[in-house]
Amino acid sequence: MPQELFNKPVTELSGMLARGEVSAVELMRSVAERTRKVEPKVHAFNSLDEEDALAQAAASDARRAAAKASGAEVHALEGIPIGIKDVISVAGQPLTASSRMLATFVSPYDATVTTKLKAAGAICWGRLNLDEFAMGSSTENSAFGVTSNPYDLERVPGGSSGGSAASVAAGEAIASLGSDTGGSIRQPAALCNIVGLKPSYGRVSRYGLIAFASSLDQIGPFARSVDDAATVLGAISGHDRRDSTSLRMEVPDYRRGMDELRKSGRKWRLGIPKEYFGEGLDPEVGAAVQAAIAEYTKLGCEVREVSLPHTKYAVGAYYIIATAECSSNLARFDGVRYGHRSKDATDALDLYFKSRAEGFGPEVKRRIILGTYVLSSGYYDAYYLRAQKVRTLIRRDFLEAYKQVDAIVTPTSPTPAFRKGEKAANPLAMYLNDIYTIGVNLAGLPGISIPCGFTGGGLPIGLQIIGQPFKETELLAVARSYEERNDWRNRFPTL
Ligand code: GLN
Repeated sequence: MPQELFNKPVTELSGMLARGEVSAVELMRSVAERTRKVEPKVHAFNSLDEEDALAQAAASDARRAAAKASGAEVHALEGIPIGIKDVISVAGQPLTASSRMLATFVSPYDATVTTKLKAAGAICWGRLNLDEFAMGSSTENSAFGVTSNPYDLERVPGGSSGGSAASVAAGEAIASLGSDTGGSIRQPAALCNIVGLKPSYGRVSRYGLIAFASSLDQIGPFARSVDDAATVLGAISGHDRRDSTSLRMEVPDYRRGMDELRKSGRKWRLGIPKEYFGEGLDPEVGAAVQAAIAEYTKLGCEVREVSLPHTKYAVGAYYIIATAECSSNLARFDGVRYGHRSKDATDALDLYFKSRAEGFGPEVKRRIILGTYVLSSGYYDAYYLRAQKVRTLIRRDFLEAYKQVDAIVTPTSPTPAFRKGEKAANPLAMYLNDIYTIGVNLAGLPGISIPCGFTGGGLPIGLQIIGQPFKETELLAVARSYEERNDWRNRFPTL
């Protein structure tokens, strides 16, 4: 497909906008038109407001004109349409978490990331589909229908941020935001041939994000290139007094930092964890990842095997910690304060039971039940406390490996996109799909997925690179040094 406005990267579009070759309104029109054309097949969005987006674009053009007149600096995201996962608040827009519980809810305020994107001049474009309350790996748990993988409409886009990944892959948004609790940015990015970055825990404020598991959740970007992901990350990073877990740390200029690292000719030491290449890894995925590792060797990187021995407990520990936290976080949906309220309740307790029974889907209920169980007295020590100890061991494994290497390279997902319905009836099979991504959240590390090839059947494959805490610049630099050597990202889906 020839490059049209809607499938160009931010780096190119921001230059075109700056030179006046295109206006924000024209860009928004191109994206909206594309969306109208392919959205019936892809179903990436829960809601769209084209009129509002065009008004935002017109305002952006006016700001740019004013900045030009005054000589003020213009952010690279000025006028760029960015899709937002439907768990992140945008004032005045629907916020559903893809749940019947919030089917008619409208955000009363902006999330901090939304405020920051708006301040950069980006256009908040649509609310993107996900697994209900971000619980899942396929977007099949949405109450509003499944999103299709743009590379094969019979297959899932991954999840939970399936809409965020599919929209960027399909040209329905230039970049997007997702959230990642156990892989929800990286895994769908891998399955849809785009870049997805989960920042270090504490890098980005979660104020205005509907909480799933608060000790794991992070917001991060989906984009068409590592540079674009760095640009969006730069716009949304930083301390926020409204989220006490966001760290008081200077936000680096990620792109400049990457360029400096490139100039310095730094040779990276990369670790390959032997536990990530065992049983369950699809051979085509394994081969593509090995080929990417070979590219790194050609680049002069030192590649060595490392061990993350507690990997085998990661899925188990995650599904205790995440469910425990979600059972607590989702207690607020009580049918009284906000969200779905049952119409035929007889008393207060009945209202609580019926509203939750009607509002939540089966996966959310399963997790609340599991989480309540592992936290109940008598089981707390046996499950929750032990899982927390395992979590510490997993983090130590990573920190131990980082004594020898700068970054760790693995597959993002053990398989390429699977067929709709293939794993839906088997929660355990679905949970095992997170095996390579979950440890990163448990350890609070930054992780990125970048395109690294296709299967014989044309399905995208992702490479995961895991960085050291708060070393996003180095992580991005490692990712870009591989990205520069291939053209995977320009293989667009035919829709
Ligand atoms: N697939 C994982 C889960 O179902 C991760 C989801 C996420 O990161 N939000 O919990």
